[in-house]
Amino acid sequence: MTEAGTAATGTGGTARWENQWYGPQPNVAQAAGYADAPPRMGFFTDTSVCIGCKACEVACKEWNSVPEDGLELTGMSYDNTQGLGADTWRHVAFIEQRKLLGGQEPGVDDGGFDAFEAARQLGSTPSPGPGATAPPPEPSPADAPAGTISPVSPDGRTELRWLMSSDVCKHCTHAACLDVCPTGALFRTEFGTVVVQQDVCNGCGYCVPACPYGVIDQRKEDGRVWKCTLCYDRLGVGMEPACAKSCPTDSIQFGPLDELRERAAARVARLHAAGVTDARLYGESPDDGVGGDGAFFLLLDEPEVYGLPPDPVVTTRDLPAMWKHAATAAVSLVALSVASFVRRPR
Ligand code: SF4
Ligand code: SF4
Repeated sequence: MTEAGTAATGTGGTARWENQWYGPQPNVAQAAGYADAPPRMGFFTDTSVCIGCKACEVACKEWNSVPEDGLELTGMSYDNTQGLGADTWRHVAFIEQRKLLGGQEPGVDDGGFDAFEAARQLGSTPSPGPGATAPPPEPSPADAPAGTISPVSPDGRTELRWLMSSDVCKHCTHAACLDVCPTGALFRTEFGTVVVQQDVCNGCGYCVPACPYGVIDQRKEDGRVWKCTLCYDRLGVGMEPACAKSCPTDSIQFGPLDELRERAAARVARLHAAGVTDARLYGESPDDGVGGDGAFFLLLDEPEVYGLPPDPVVTTRDLPAMWKHAATAAVSLVALSVASFVRRPR
């Protein structure tokens, strides 16, 4: 069994661990048996700067030798991988919305180029004069918001916006996939992440319905389950995961989880100050139903919009209570049988 069964209560300088299936877990790796665990590592995916280039999907496939999976468009958007699965460990969701863009920043240095000023110049260049082949521009209507062709829509004009978000295994604090695995194929690493050992997985598939996010998936060809390993092999030699390394906008950030949480809180504050009041964090709180995620997100809308459950709960949370009820029922049955035997007329 795993860290899901333990939690630090720490008294008198000696760490004490007691049973716990959900709630905050201060040190997942230590609870899993790593005495000198390094800091817990994770992902902070800032979707406000994702440009949907899919470099993360490609890098993940290349590094981990994940087979191709069809690349079919949904007919609803430019999303051609459609969701996480055995052969898609990173999935970039594309959501189209007719909504204000707010003050999103591209996340890349534009070298001082003023897009608003450039847009303001549009249509205001004087006619090149005699010999010109193009007609002079029509004067704008008096009430036209001249020069506001921009991604930020400073005049409050509603435009179509893209929400793009690179989804991945959440490496939950309380990982139900790992709790239910009967062979020990899933394990907690020293970095606090959750990894499948393909040579131990027997393909029973118990972990698939146990995952509250619908992440882990069986490969049809061999029945075994596959998912993001947070590039365990790269972490072991001090490298960052392939997706984070390849992301050109730093939408995917990798590092010690505590540090990432601080960075994410600062980023949300900045976005709020810039008027992007919909910005919120998802999966970062140790008080949520899975004890917080090792991979959390900055979203610009409700989690459901991105296909994420609004209030995920570790599916093994109620196991202790269920066992208690089952034990009470068994003891009652035994007591009844004994009583009926004792009272039997001789
Ligand atoms: S998201 Fe699902 S597959 Fe990933 S660690 Fe959590 S329970 Fe396991
Ligand atoms: S997360 Fe980064 S690499 Fe992935 S699609 Fe977005 S911008 Fe591209």
